[in-house]
Amino acid sequence: MIAKFIKNLLKFSKPEQEIKDEIYLININRVFYLSLASIPMRIFSILIFMNRSPAVNEREALWQRGIISSHTSYLVLLLILLGLSNKYRKLDKPNLLMIGTVHVAVAASLLFGVIITLVDQLAMPSITPYVIANVAVGVIFLINPLHTLNIYIVGYLIYYFGMGILQPDASILLSNRINGITTTVLGILLAIILWSSNVKNLKQKNFIICQQKELEKINDELQYLASHDSLTGLLNRRCFEDKVSSEILRIQRYGQESALLILDIDNFKEINDKYGHPVGDSILQGFSSLIKAELRETDVFARIGGEEFAILLINTDVEAGRRVAEKIRGLIEKETFVIDNQEVHLTVSIGVTSMDDGTENYAEIYRFADRALYRAKTQGKNKIDIVTKSDKNAEEVRLT
Ligand code: GH3
Ligand code: MG
Ligand code: MG
Repeated sequence: MIAKFIKNLLKFSKPEQEIKDEIYLININRVFYLSLASIPMRIFSILIFMNRSPAVNEREALWQRGIISSHTSYLVLLLILLGLSNKYRKLDKPNLLMIGTVHVAVAASLLFGVIITLVDQLAMPSITPYVIANVAVGVIFLINPLHTLNIYIVGYLIYYFGMGILQPDASILLSNRINGITTTVLGILLAIILWSSNVKNLKQKNFIICQQKELEKINDELQYLASHDSLTGLLNRRCFEDKVSSEILRIQRYGQESALLILDIDNFKEINDKYGHPVGDSILQGFSSLIKAELRETDVFARIGGEEFAILLINTDVEAGRRVAEKIRGLIEKETFVIDNQEVHLTVSIGVTSMDDGTENYAEIYRFADRALYRAKTQGKNKIDIVTKSDKNAEEVRLT
């Protein structure tokens, strides 16, 4: 059982650097608030002792002077600690000076309890300040168990030998030394228990933060997968529909005109049959990159089917849409796709339409573009055609 306790102690004494850093940041804040709270208490104690009625004998006078000078020295140290902790608690990562400040604060707090208790022996047998200091240091600061043992043992040794010098009554001396051991052990236990539970909590907190980051990453990946096509990296049909629907709402509210193009690679089945499906895939990728490079940042480009693509040209009228379609058609016609040392030539047919504040929804606008594409195909492919709501072709679309 003791072996298990020591094993656990050693395990908790060496947390990861990240947790050690967090503990120093917690401690430096505690140094700051402890100093802030302690300073008025020290001033108050000094004033009380200075205004006390004169000592009745030499020993009491010595006690009074001892208490005043101990509180004064501690007050000076607290003022320095307040300044240093206020400076270092703003850091994100501990540095050597911050670590030093924490160590000095821990040692000084315990030592102050020892000194006041020893000075008190000149006038009374009480060890209350020593008890308070042992418990307070264990509760306020998060001290590594190995350091805890060192600090508390050194504190007790000073207490033990100092008591021998300042406490003349043998029975009180013995009682104080034994009670001191109990207090020291209590302080050590408190410090170790609080250290272990805090380290455990910090580990759990860090684990949860890691899990959350992981989930956010997975969520981002899922969102990407849900809105993008895996072969070309373009937006997929669902996402494109959403974008067009939002654009229709924007146009209905603010006016302006946008163009919609639907592109279908001509005779793609033959290309697959002739060169194989993997080559077909590479061509789809090359086709996408080529067109993407021609478009503006604000244009929305998507793969809406196997060899079918769509482009939303924001703030573009039907004439400008036609020019873009013609440019793309010419570009593809001229391009030689080289896949695995094989040269492949393609053509594309494009249906163009435009949306304005009279456009009702995605289904309506898609029907016009699809009708235009159908007309381009029936005219012999490698063509573009236009159908808009206002022209006579729209009537036949409405009837289908
Ligand atoms: P049209 O000129 O009339 O459009 O003829 P097409 O051959 O292009 O059209 P069709 O609809 O008959 O065939 C489309 C072909 O596209 C058939 C299908 O195998 C191919 N295809 C669809 N998706 C992919 C894909 O992801 N990779 C490859 N390699 N081929 C695909
Ligand atoms: Mg097709
Ligand atoms: Mg096709």
